[in-house]
Amino acid sequence: MIMITMNKIENNHSTNNDSYRHLFVIIESINNELIPASLEMLGEARRQMDHFNLKYKSNEKVIAIHLGHGIKDLSKDLISYGADAVIYADDPHLKYPINKIYTKIISQIVTDPHSLKEISPEYVSIFKKPRYMFFLADSIGRHLSSTVLAELDSGLASDINKLVISDLDIKHQHKTKGETIHYQKVLEMYRPDFSGFLWTTILCLDNKNPEIAKEFHPQACSIIPGAFQPCVQDTKRTGIISQFSPQFDEQDLKIKVVKQELVKNPVQFENYKIIVSFGRGIKEDPEANIKLVEKLAKILDAEIGISLPISKKIFHLNEKYDSIYITPNRVVGTSGRKVTPVIYIAVGISGAIQHLDGMKDSDFIIAINPDENSPIKDVCDVFIKGRMEDVIPVIIDELSKRSGQLKEKEIQVNTYGKL
Ligand SMILES: Cc1cc2nc3c(=O)[nH]c(=O)nc-3n(C[C@H](O)[C@H](O)[C@H](O)COP(=O)(O)OP(=O)(O)OC[C@H]3O[C@@H](n4cnc5c(N)ncnc54)[C@H](O)[C@@H]3O)c2cc1C
Repeated sequence: MIMITMNKIENNHSTNNDSYRHLFVIIESINNELIPASLEMLGEARRQMDHFNLKYKSNEKVIAIHLGHGIKDLSKDLISYGADAVIYADDPHLKYPINKIYTKIISQIVTDPHSLKEISPEYVSIFKKPRYMFFLADSIGRHLSSTVLAELDSGLASDINKLVISDLDIKHQHKTKGETIHYQKVLEMYRPDFSGFLWTTILCLDNKNPEIAKEFHPQACSIIPGAFQPCVQDTKRTGIISQFSPQFDEQDLKIKVVKQELVKNPVQFENYKIIVSFGRGIKEDPEANIKLVEKLAKILDAEIGISLPISKKIFHLNEKYDSIYITPNRVVGTSGRKVTPVIYIAVGISGAIQHLDGMKDSDFIIAINPDENSPIKDVCDVFIKGRMEDVIPVIIDELSKRSGQLKEKEIQVNTYGKL
């Protein structure tokens, strides 16, 4: 796994090892319902492999792997959302996602050539491992991706929100012994890093240096929920559905899960037309400034969001504010929630890529910030240059002159007009 500088080159001929094939997507479901982010991941897999097959004149597949109990019927849905094939394992012991047993069975499926006998019979005799693998970057997928990739002896890029498959010329002291080597079908896995001001590209490349020669497949990543769109469902799509008979022993069954519940997020952003979020700009007087945001949110009937650093408890606050607002549930951005309200008000937030990723699709964005060079200025519809301590009381004052709480229509007309 390396971070590397690259030269993109145009090259269409394929010299790649045919032992590594297809894109395998590890699907998650709960109570026999597919987790929506699994469909987002499947949608991106479909788009990537359509592009791949066109570019390399090949016919590699998107294969959904699904483990559970009583899940067979969901296979058709997975086909309708873009999978070419589904390999499912259905067993009472797989009802809940227990890492040890899931790792074992997923590893069995993706290294067993016979699991592909219906899907790509021509490669059964040479198939070794997947070319690419996608997992979800949620609590189950993050854990599972690391253990499966350890089992498969390859690398993993976590929390990815952009993917590109391309051919690259790579020169690296360790990997290529200083030679420039042409790598094909490389999965470039992007994640925002270094406070959002840099994209890190993570590559999982074979060691071509003869002294340490080693092949690294699959190229795998975990994908942040909300990063990609699902395909539009097409119930007429057809595909192969194949059942895998998992093998496990008593040792694997030591951990028992008795219940699994989908925990509803207590912060329901989707129920609000307006979201007011605050960031590190509250720093001069955190508690007084949160009270100001709270007052503004109340008068606008808005929900309150925060930037990621706030959730790290960087300010000393009384317990009430701490427990209500300083929680990961309120984080907006790649590591938190994606929101699309009618109005998004960013108070004391600079506008790092990761934050913008979670709110840039809001209908109307207002930023309150004294620094007009803050990146948030480039995405907002109205930039109010000023300290929140000065600006918010004026807005509250104006809004308070109106009787009672503003109705939805009034909010749109009057707030837009006034600001
Ligand atoms: C992998 C990764 C994932 C991440 N995910 C997320 C994510 O999901 N969500 C997220 O938010 N961040 C995320 N981050 C962090 C992100 O990169 C930024 O560091 C963060 O968003 C900055 O938070 P901020 O805007 O509150 O703070 P700052 O960048 O410090 O900005 C504070 C702003 O407040 C303004 N300000 C100062 N005084 C005042 C005042 N009196 N009144 C009003 N404004 C004032 C300043 O001008 C400044 O623009 C992630 C980072 C990484 C590496």
